[in-house]
Amino acid sequence: ASARSRSKHLFDRAKGVFTDGTTRASVERDPFPIYAQRGEGAYLVDVDGNRLLDLNNNFTTLIHGHGFAHVSEAVVDLLRLGTCFANPTEHEIALAELLTARIPAMERVRFVNSGTEAVMFAIKAARAFTARPAIARIEGAYHGAYDWAEAGQGVSPGKDGWDPIPIPTPTYRGTPSSVADEVHLLRFNDVEGLERRLSAASDRIACVLIDPMPSRAGLLHPEPTFIEALSETAHKYGILIVADEVLNLRQGYAGASPRYGLKPDLVTAGKIIGGGFPIGAIGGREEVMRVFGTENARPLLPQGGTFSANPVSMAAGLAAMEAMTPDAFDRLEAMGERLRAGLRASIASRDARFSVTGAASLFRIHPKRVAPLEYRDAHLSAEEAWIMRTMSRYFLEAGILLPYGAAACLSTPMVHSDIDRILSAFDEFLEAKIGPEKE
Ligand code: PMP
Repeated sequence: ASARSRSKHLFDRAKGVFTDGTTRASVERDPFPIYAQRGEGAYLVDVDGNRLLDLNNNFTTLIHGHGFAHVSEAVVDLLRLGTCFANPTEHEIALAELLTARIPAMERVRFVNSGTEAVMFAIKAARAFTARPAIARIEGAYHGAYDWAEAGQGVSPGKDGWDPIPIPTPTYRGTPSSVADEVHLLRFNDVEGLERRLSAASDRIACVLIDPMPSRAGLLHPEPTFIEALSETAHKYGILIVADEVLNLRQGYAGASPRYGLKPDLVTAGKIIGGGFPIGAIGGREEVMRVFGTENARPLLPQGGTFSANPVSMAAGLAAMEAMTPDAFDRLEAMGERLRAGLRASIASRDARFSVTGAASLFRIHPKRVAPLEYRDAHLSAEEAWIMRTMSRYFLEAGILLPYGAAACLSTPMVHSDIDRILSAFDEFLEAKIGPEKE
């Protein structure tokens, strides 16, 4: 086993200042987190000097891996000139021009600092535009920490199994119960439930918030019939569609929605568009985005933010996104295809109880024989969660950082031999037939 004493030491120190030793709930620790020392392209070097192929890339943010030269150069130049102003800069225009040119649904854009904030303002915009308070969203999907975006998050089956209709209980203790009154949960790929639930509350629902391939819910593939039914039903009742592409924008040059025939009114973005710096964006139809306008004495929805559109995030994002040409997306997708096909071939040849979901540069391995279609299929039992953690530990020993509770992703500095390494590690893991009963 490789040495990780320095990580362990840092974790012990961190416990003196952070509850439970970390300042982000999403940090994986088994039993302590691996502290990063630096990044080198596709690799992360930890504080103990271990060099690990990084399949997390800060939760899919770093599409170019670590230390991408174009971004570093753009940012280093800026640091000398000043990092934030109360005044706008040309950088925000350039990044907005790139996004509106590529992403069909983004006719106008607003910048914020995180995906959470982007989703929050998209919901507020949909409410302001429709004058309706409620939202509908997908059971088990993650959209950040705005109360309405997270209600019903992380549910598990009760002792009698799953409730047939998902109940949007406020996720955390003390959240006002009124939050749940204005959230309607839909099961992904459930056409009949979607129509029934939207029509029952149609005059109160401002928008359906939907990640075209919900990642936390299982990196689920959308069925064409579901996307069609969503578009039709939303249109019929004047409900807006908000596509949350904070994570899935990396699926292609035009983002994720066009791949699946989804035509959103609003789109949220984040992660890759900041080139490794904090960012979020809300884009959408000109008519809807007008709610942010200040032409009237009282704008419907004022939106500002001290660090919103700061030039560092704008310039870094522009450098990263400019390098994501259609060819760069194609190359990443081809690598992703080869990886997913290879993983599936291993599963088939060993008749293993696993499946793989994902698209483009994203993938997720499930300890399930059948690839999940909705959150309920992807939800892990205690034993399955153990299998995933064990697999992640196995990968770590093979020098690969594989997130066990989230989508994994490739980055542009990866090469075919990196894909081969992932495939061998997985095949060897299957060959070892590690199960809870053998621990
Ligand atoms: N929406 C989706 C789909 C996400 O995946 C995430 C982050 N994983 C968020 C929103 C929240 O973004 P952030 O962490 O930047 O606040």
